[in-house]
Amino acid sequence: MIHNIKNIITPVLTLLYPKRCVACDKVLLKMEKETGFCRDCIKKVKLVGPVCCLKCGGPISDDTKEFCRNCERNTHAFLQNKAIFQYTGDMKNAMYRFKYANRRCYGKVFAKHANRYYGRWLKDNNIEAIVPVPMYKKKEKRRGYNQATVFARELSAITGIPVAEEIVRREADTKAMKQLNGLKRKKNLLNAFSLGENVVQFRKVLIVDDIYTTGTTMDEVAKVLKSGGVKEIFGMCVCIGEMQ
Ligand SMILES: [Zn+2]
Ligand SMILES: [Zn+2]
Repeated sequence: MIHNIKNIITPVLTLLYPKRCVACDKVLLKMEKETGFCRDCIKKVKLVGPVCCLKCGGPISDDTKEFCRNCERNTHAFLQNKAIFQYTGDMKNAMYRFKYANRRCYGKVFAKHANRYYGRWLKDNNIEAIVPVPMYKKKEKRRGYNQATVFARELSAITGIPVAEEIVRREADTKAMKQLNGLKRKKNLLNAFSLGENVVQFRKVLIVDDIYTTGTTMDEVAKVLKSGGVKEIFGMCVCIGEMQ
């Protein structure tokens, strides 16, 4: 089977770096541009840090435990997920702007922090391709972009790992997951994804998304990739909610 080179690209850096703080939206001073956060927010923003669930990567309060309660109870189709920030405080507003207010420039900041904390982890796991969680095509056209793809491309530009778009497709315009509970989330995403034209050639891939909530989305994408022959699936999200 042959790679379709069109869909496997290492993008060049094209987007601008944000001029405003990712968290509070204040104009950044020159020296603050390095991190993408103003000096107040860089202290306030909560990183996930090393005390986290070994499966989903969510912060856990009890550091004697290996897994959060969610991962103790549920099996996942991916091996391990990592997340950079806790989905709390101003990061909630940041994610809203990243998703709906055309702040594609945040992708660069997120990729930078992702590489800083998890660059080693990506190398150690020999990730061959980055797969953004796809958006329903019509929805993507309407909105202008898929934030997961933006993050994927910037991460690719920093790490050199290619982005493999289109190997998973979103078949339906599913409901927003925010208001749905666990079981309904699963139902909502049943058969939502399918394998794209190209049969997956990779053994180890990284699924990327903006926010990890229960892991249902990542699981569904991982299942599709597995059905296409991918052996090991990892995940990375910009933000994650607190796990118990
Ligand atoms: Zn700020
Ligand atoms: Zn977990």
